[in-house]
Amino acid sequence: MKQDTPRDEILADTKTGLMAGKRGLVMGVANDHSIAWGIAQMLSGHGAEIAFTYQGEAQKKRLGPLASSIGSKLVMPADVESDEQLDAVFATLKQEWGTLDFLVHSLAFSDREELKGRYVDTSRANFARSLDISCYSFTAVAQRAARLMPQGGSLVTLTYLGAQRVMPNYNVMGVAKAALEASVRYLAADLGKDGIRVNAISAGPMRTLAGAAVGDARMVFKWNKSHSPLKRTVELNHVGGAALYLLSELSGGVTGEVHFVDAGFNVIGMPPTADLKGWTPQENGQDDGSGNA
Ligand code: NAD
Repeated sequence: MKQDTPRDEILADTKTGLMAGKRGLVMGVANDHSIAWGIAQMLSGHGAEIAFTYQGEAQKKRLGPLASSIGSKLVMPADVESDEQLDAVFATLKQEWGTLDFLVHSLAFSDREELKGRYVDTSRANFARSLDISCYSFTAVAQRAARLMPQGGSLVTLTYLGAQRVMPNYNVMGVAKAALEASVRYLAADLGKDGIRVNAISAGPMRTLAGAAVGDARMVFKWNKSHSPLKRTVELNHVGGAALYLLSELSGGVTGEVHFVDAGFNVIGMPPTADLKGWTPQENGQDDGSGNA
């Protein structure tokens, strides 16, 4: 390792062999900015063999070279709205590998027209579709993956703080992520006796296609950067490192968790008052400016 390797890259550069002999499915690589790709690279660097799924032909073209760059041979179509496609993916995995050690579910969808404005205006159709793709699909793949994990395994999904607190424009996706986080707990309870662990990574805002679909994403990104304890946003390596922990034996005693990888943003209640110089409270008759409650 070079002397000047940035701290962030050290883990990716260090080949621990933690995942040697392990095989898993990674779902949700749209391009090389995707969180799923960051995770796949990290896992592969530590010895894992990876199969991928893609949604649609355009994505297949982008995924092909990425998958071959880490020696992946199994690249399969899977729109998670289709039970038939999911069945086909797991039938192929059974045929090619027999068993599975881990699964990464890194996908979500909502009509971007409803990822701005007010949550109260959410339509029934987009509510149902967002919850189906962004939440139910994890349960659908967990059912199928569990059958290929006779010796146990580990499943990870991706969530966001908007599940637990109101974040601007996140709207129905916040509700979908809340349901997803609850699913993590129920799946962990159901599958624990089979040695299958189920966890979620709650990533801070990242510049991906899905991230950009949320209204005013740049502003949210900048706010997180300046108001997180680490004064930064997170990179693919950070999420990859957390996934390596959750998918390897390092986390053998951990299940049902939502693990934040957000530069600590979630622990902050209010920015330091020194940062608020020049801020003028809105007059509502309750703030007399004296600082007295
Ligand atoms: P991305 O756009 O790179 O990936 C989203 C993926 O979802 C794409 O590969 C897309 O094809 C897939 N997808 C959508 N509908 C699908 C369907 N019907 N069937 C199969 N796949 C489908 O964006 P990303 O930011 O890497 O998103 C990955 C996950 O991370 C999502 O769950 C997202 O909510 C979550 N997340 C993102 C951020 C962020 O700021 N980017 C923060 C926290 C959590």
